[in-house]
Amino acid sequence: MNILICNVGSTSLKYQLFKMDEFETVLASGGAERVGASKSVFYHKNNKTGESVRFDDSFPTHGEAISAMLNHLLNGCISSMEEISCVGFKVVHAKGVTGVQYLTEDVLQAMADFNSVAPAHNPPYIAAIRQFAELMPNTPLIGSFETAFHAQMPPEAYLYPIPLELSKQHAIRRYGFHGASLEYLSTWTAQKMGRQDLKLVCCHLGGSGSLCAVKNGISIDTTMGMGLQCGVLQNNRIGDMDPYIIFHLVEECGMELQEVKTMLQTKSGLYGMSGFVSNDLRDIQKAADAGNTDCQNAVKAYSYGIKKYIGAYTAAMGGVDAIVFGGGIGRNSAPVRAQSLEGLECLGVKLDTNKNRNAKGGDDISAGDSRVRIFVVDTNEEIIVARKAKALLEQQ
Ligand code: ADP
Repeated sequence: MNILICNVGSTSLKYQLFKMDEFETVLASGGAERVGASKSVFYHKNNKTGESVRFDDSFPTHGEAISAMLNHLLNGCISSMEEISCVGFKVVHAKGVTGVQYLTEDVLQAMADFNSVAPAHNPPYIAAIRQFAELMPNTPLIGSFETAFHAQMPPEAYLYPIPLELSKQHAIRRYGFHGASLEYLSTWTAQKMGRQDLKLVCCHLGGSGSLCAVKNGISIDTTMGMGLQCGVLQNNRIGDMDPYIIFHLVEECGMELQEVKTMLQTKSGLYGMSGFVSNDLRDIQKAADAGNTDCQNAVKAYSYGIKKYIGAYTAAMGGVDAIVFGGGIGRNSAPVRAQSLEGLECLGVKLDTNKNRNAKGGDDISAGDSRVRIFVVDTNEEIIVARKAKALLEQQ
């Protein structure tokens, strides 16, 4: 069974074609960047032959990028579209829908109902899924919702302190996201430690990031909320913030509500705090190292937020056995890991600075006498989605 997993960004498409046998081989992978811009880029690798290509093209919408992907897959990876059993997507959010689902019109409508709380994620996904349905009318499209991993959170973790009637009427609660990555990080760690009865703080830190308290394999709390605009700082989106700042900006400072919304979604987080130096932590770290105090404060605030949640989740679980870092920042930023864990010796957390500096995916970077293990993991969201899609197809 071959399963194509597609990751849709607002201006990008990434894909991997898996052969879902016991080895879960990646047959091909690739993607498109700058979709919608005047010049787009396409890249593709056929793992059977080792051949890879990268070239400029024009992709006004995701549709053209999807066509380019299918042409390249049909040229040497598969001989017909029938060899693709389904296309799987790591979909983000839908009102009243979670788990693993066939992406019917009803499910797409439920996703659209939550566009307001997932504005950077849902609209591009819905548009791209419709284009997939047109270009691959006979192939099942399956979505694995990022919220599913958090479905067993207890009420004290998911309820918001607003009138209960409103919460019930409008499905307002903490949902949590990054489920595929958090599931990968927690199952990887359980396997590595040879135990299921673990208290883990899993940190998925990418352009968008969240922490999760995973107790005995179950998410009991997480930093993302009803939407993806809270918790630790995001690359250009807001993290935790007093909601009354919004009213102050509108009522006292002359900003329009829409302007505030755009600011919170695109000009906040690390980007806003750095004084618009960049929304990429690599650039911000470089400027911080060169003495830019705004960038230094942005990195400090980011790491401080992570540290606070590690403490909070240790309290929520009554202890912690391991802290797990994944995602582009979690995997690659030794300074963020070091600053986030600084001073946590009181919880039994002791980092080996040398191991941290040279960490690769799969490494334990805790000191020999640390009670709590600290792991750096190459997360693999795609394989989690592929396994879930396969299981759904096999239910038929
Ligand atoms: P996304 O959430 O967009 O899927 P990733 O998990 O790929 O993102 O993470 C992307 C982020 O990882 C980039 O914004 C960048 O800030 C960060 N990153 C990647 N490599 C490094 C590095 N060596 N040091 C610090 N940050 C890094």
